[in-house]
Order: sequence, then structure tokens, then C-alpha cells
Amino acid sequence: MTRAATLVEVAPRDGFQPIGPFIPTADKIEFIRAADAAGLHRIEIGSFVNPKAVPQLRDTAEVLRATADLPDLDPQILVPNTRGVDLALAAGATHLAYVISASDAHNRNNVRRDTDVSITEYGDMVRALPPGIRLRLNLATSFDCPFDGRMDEGFVLDRLARLLEHCSDVEVGLCDTTGRADPAHVASLVSTCLRRWPDTAFLFHGHDTYGLGLANIAAAWNAGLNRFDTAFAGLGGCPFAPGATGNTATEDAVWMFRRMGVETGVDLDALIPLAVRAAAIPGAQPGGRVRAAMIAACAA
Ligand code: ZN
Repeated sequence: MTRAATLVEVAPRDGFQPIGPFIPTADKIEFIRAADAAGLHRIEIGSFVNPKAVPQLRDTAEVLRATADLPDLDPQILVPNTRGVDLALAAGATHLAYVISASDAHNRNNVRRDTDVSITEYGDMVRALPPGIRLRLNLATSFDCPFDGRMDEGFVLDRLARLLEHCSDVEVGLCDTTGRADPAHVASLVSTCLRRWPDTAFLFHGHDTYGLGLANIAAAWNAGLNRFDTAFAGLGGCPFAPGATGNTATEDAVWMFRRMGVETGVDLDALIPLAVRAAAIPGAQPGGRVRAAMIAACAA
């Protein structure tokens, strides 16, 4: 059986979030429509976080409404706490990504409580979730923490085990929040998770801060993982992970998988112009290599 890779496009959330100048709502909607048209149907389109902390994403409800007519789009909304869940549900979201940090220091910095408290809140939230709502659990700092450094694998697995006790029918994002994970570390945690929880869907979320984004995706793929977060134009960065740069560029991942003979369902020729436009957003810090390489190849 041939395996296909699924890419979840996270630029409209992880990528836009650190950009200072406000991206007009109409432009955000246009980026999401273009990404969907290029074959990126799973898109993290925004987040219900405190608009004072992340003013860029204050129009998430509007973006969600304006893309509701796209039949293939599966819009996912990031929520850091139960208040975010309430707001997302009120806005009509049906696919939530709830984020908890494996590391206490990062969790405290992110949502001002210890991870233990967040795990209990998560359990309450899961039990109160209306039927029909799909849930993804993002375990931030699964590999490395901006404050505590490299995360012990046993410690991360213990925390994940406690979270999965509340609900195992969830997609788990193993997040390399700082971009300091390496292929050996990724392969190790991924293969352990797949062995230990064969019925749970896992996903890898990586940043290309140290240039290991694609290498880590390849390592996760070789360890058996099929789902990855990427961002067009390699946009990204995390306000709560100082120094972290963009997510691995979607166009780079699509190109790599195409060369490997792995189907992603993404039309690279449609994606490149979109990524070029995204790289030119005022205040953006784009990453990735394939954009420039393909444009140079066209010009040659
Ligand atoms: Zn991220």
C-alpha cells in the first residue's frame, strides 16, 4: 500500500500571528482560498487567544465565516484555554486545536498555569465538548523548551499518557516549538508514540529555526508518521518561544515529497505564486528554499 502525506497549512495562524502590521482580513481570506484551491484543504485559519496578546488574529471569527462556503476546506482553530474553546464554538468552529505545553515553564509563560492544572482543565473541557466537534491536541515543547532546554522523552510521554487518559480519540500534534529538535530525537519520540498508542493519530509540527525542518519531517515520515504542519513561505515564529523562526515551508515539503514519489495532493505550481505573495507581506520573515529555486528554474 502506498502512503500519502497530509500537510496541514498553518501559515494563517502560526505564520501570521507574529507579523506586526495588521494583515487586512480580506487578504487573509484570499490566502486561505488560494491555499485551498492549491489542494491544502486542512488549514489552521486562526486562533481565539487574547486579542491584546495577539492582535493580528483578532478577526478569526470573520475569517471563519468568510471561508465557510469552501466545500473541501477543513478549517481548524487554535485555542489555548477553555475561554478560547467557548469563543471558537460560538463562532461556529467544529475543529479545534487545543494547545498544552509539556514543559511547565513554557506552559506558565503561555497560559500562566502549571501543566498539571492545564491537564485537569483539558479533561473538563473534553467532557463538556458538544458532540460533533473534532479535537486536536497540540503538545508544545514536545522536544525542546525555550526555558528548560531539551525535554526528557520519558517525561513528555508521561504527560501525554495523562492527557490521552481523558480522550484517546484525538489527533496529537508533537510540536517542535523552538526548532531545536533533530532527526534522531524526532524519530525516537515518533516511533515510541506510534508503538504505544496505535489507535491515536499523530502529527509533527516543526520550525525551521536551525535548518532542520525538512530533515525532521523526513525522519518523522520514515518513522511512520503521515501528517505534518507546514506554512507557506515558511512564515512563522512564536511570541512565546523567543528566537523561533518560521515553520517548515509548505512548498519545500511538497517538493521533497514529490521527489520521493509521495502524494500530498498539493499543486506546487499553484502554491508557488501564493507563497511568493505571502513572502511579500509587510513585516513577514519568510523562510524556505523551493520558492526561489523554482523561480530561478523558470527564468533559466
Ligand atoms: Zn509553531
